[in-house]
Parts: sequence; C-alpha cells; structure tokens
Amino acid sequence: MTTTRFAPSPTGYIHIGNLRTALMNFLIARKAGGTFILRIDDTDPERSKQEYVDAIKEDLEWLGLTWDRVERQSERLDRYAEAADTLRGMGRFYEAFETPTELDLKRKKQLNMGRPPVYDRAALGLSEEQKEALRAERGDGVWRFKLDHERIDWDDGILGDISIDAASVSDPVLIRGDGQVLYTLASVVDDTEMGVTHVVRGSDHVTNTATQIQIIEALGGSVPQFAHHSLLTGPQGESLSKRLGTLSLRDLRAQGVEPMALLSLMARLGSADPVELRTDMAELIEGFDISRFGSAPTKFDANDLFPLTARVLQGRDFADVKAHIVALGVPEDQAERFWSVTRENITTLQDLEGWWIMFRDGAEPVIDDEDREFVAEALALLPEGPHDGDTWGQWTSVVKEQTGRKGKGLFMPLRKALTGQNHGPDMSQVLPLLQVIKAKG
Ligand code: GLU
Repeated sequence: MTTTRFAPSPTGYIHIGNLRTALMNFLIARKAGGTFILRIDDTDPERSKQEYVDAIKEDLEWLGLTWDRVERQSERLDRYAEAADTLRGMGRFYEAFETPTELDLKRKKQLNMGRPPVYDRAALGLSEEQKEALRAERGDGVWRFKLDHERIDWDDGILGDISIDAASVSDPVLIRGDGQVLYTLASVVDDTEMGVTHVVRGSDHVTNTATQIQIIEALGGSVPQFAHHSLLTGPQGESLSKRLGTLSLRDLRAQGVEPMALLSLMARLGSADPVELRTDMAELIEGFDISRFGSAPTKFDANDLFPLTARVLQGRDFADVKAHIVALGVPEDQAERFWSVTRENITTLQDLEGWWIMFRDGAEPVIDDEDREFVAEALALLPEGPHDGDTWGQWTSVVKEQTGRKGKGLFMPLRKALTGQNHGPDMSQVLPLLQVIKAKG
C-alpha cells in the first residue's frame, strides 16, 4: 500500500518550502488511497519543542492536510539502537574520534590539493588500545556508517536517473558522541519499519538519499521511490533561505491567505501544468501528478496568493462566512446582503471589516462643488430608514423627477456622497446597509 510521510523537525514553524514537501506527500498518499504519516523528527532534545509540534499540527489542520497517524522519533530510540547494533555486527559501523577542528583541517588540506573533502576513514585504522586511549581522553566517539564504494543509482520521481559515486561522499555520522541518534539513521529505520513507499523531499537531501539507500539495503529494508523537488526561490530567482522565516504558514494565515489558494498554487508551481484554482480537495488530489514537476528552481511570489484568495472568497457560500460576518457586528438580518455586496470587492476576509466600518459609521462624503445643491436636494428626498433593496430605485426616480438629472449625472454624485467612492457595489444593495447617512447633515 502506498505510504508517505511528512517529517518535520519541531524546531520552528513550518514555512512555504516545508509545505511543498508536506503537500506532495499528502497528495500522493491520498490519490493512491494510501496512508499519510505525520512523523515528528525530534531526536534532538535541545532544539525540539512541543510548542512547535502543536504549531505544525495546527498549520496542517488549517490547510486540511489530514494525517492518518503521528509517529515521534523520540519514542522510538530503542529501535534505532537496535539498528545501530545490527550495523555494528555487520562491520558497517565504526567509531571515530576526530574533533570538529581536526575534521575541518583535513577538509582544507584536501581542498588545497584539489581533492573532494571526503572523510579519509582514518578511524578505521585505529587499534582497540588506541580507541580506548582516545575514549579516555576525548569521551565516546561518533559512529560512522561505512559506505560501500560503488555507484548508488536510483530513478528519481522528479530528477530522473541519478547516479552518485559513494566514494565522493563521507561516511555519514549516524550517532553523535553524546549518544544522540541522527536523522539519517532514524529516518531509514522509520521508513523501513513503517513501510514507507514514496519519499518526496527537497533536493538538498539528494546526498542523504544516496547514503540512506545503502543503509536501508544494509538493514534489509526495501528502498522507497524517492523524488526530490527543486528549491523555492524568490520572484527574481533570489535565494529564499533567509526569508523563509517570514514565509511561515502562520504568517500567510495571518495575512488572510485562504488554504485552497495556497494549496492550489503549491500543487502546481514548478510543474508543467498551469496553476488552476481548486476549491475542493478531491479535485486537487485528482489533478496532482508528480512526474509533471521539473528540476529547475521554482520561483515563488507570495503576492500570487492574493488574487487566488479573492477568487476563493468570491465562490464562498454565505453559510460558511455568516458567523464571521455576524461577529464583526453586522446585524443578522443584513448579513447575507452584506456578503453579496462585499464578496466581489475583497481580497481577503480581513477586508470585510473595513467595509463594515464604512457601512456602520458612514464614509466621508465626496461632493463636488457643482453637485452640492443637487446632493442636498436629493438627500432631503431620501425616505427615513430602514431601507431595502427597492429604496434606491424608488428614491432616484423621485430625485430624477424633481431635479431633472438623469444617468451618470444623477447616480454618480449620490454614490460619491454616500460611499465616498466613485465605484463599488450595486447601490441598491449598498443603501440598505448604510447604517448612518453621513452626507445628510
Ligand atoms: N526532518 C527532516 C527534514 O525536515 C526530514 C527529511 C526527510 O523527509 O527525510 O529535513
């Protein structure tokens, strides 16, 4: 059965780049009728925070990216220890004692000699006595996985055929000196034991994938289908890495971005298919095809989310926004009218408040000098409220008769006097909503 996972580390809020990963894995699982796991990669006890676990869940729930179960790496440490023992038993795991400074020096020397900065496996030559002495002096070493020096090949779901020479990669450290299991091992154990069939993640993980394939094989697991999506850049192709903090999902939510606008964009951005607004998750799932994505960096512009958000709102049923509108203070019996008047004139739901303030408090009237007398005369003819959908038509006929004005010369000064603007929603709908007629005084 198709099984995918989204595996954030709870060390911060999730951002637009993480969303791409989450969404692709979600869509693959749902399209295949499979399982989508939310895996919390919290093996780092210092940096992982429950507050971020809660925030990640809240963000995914907001988007409707529901998971079938949650796994936490911190609860599976015994599984990782067992896998480490297996690798030790196979002779694929060795302890190394170099300090970060020593490793850095080695790398610099290699680079100076024009060689790739790959760990030289010096620790493999240590005798038991030397290791004892180093342990006494420096504490426990790190544990490295001994790669087989052959080519590692896979057919990537996005990048196509990939072939990496294992000799060009350092033997990965899987356990730190303080005993902390690192992601590279934990992830492999989880993917294998949880039956993960597809792994989609960012192309910054390509080298990890190469080493993980060998670890999976060493542990007797089956290698999932890997796909690496390109990294997102800003609209000009600039790196987003420093700005991702401001592109967190909660920021976008706070700016009023609608979930389906965000999902519709991200399900297509970087693919050969055009972005199409979907208001229904089933359609989004149906229309997703990972093989349509390309390897080139993908330009992301947060501004694109707003026209899509406006379109989502235009299609929204009154029933779905009623509570929100009533909470603004709009009288219940006017709420539906308020929605039909404003829906075409907002970008985000937050814009409703401005409209409501306008209807409630009245706009600053705009009256041109040559219209002053006309407007005063017309307003004197306006019947006392409450007004309904017919009031505007009846009133303007009377005004027309009394003043002789017609067409634009009749309607525009009245619109400007009542709303302060020369454009906007149908006045017959606006009038009943105006709680005070400021221009009257
Ligand atoms: N916790 C890892 C990350 O956030 C997961 C990567 C993966 O999908 O394997 O980068």
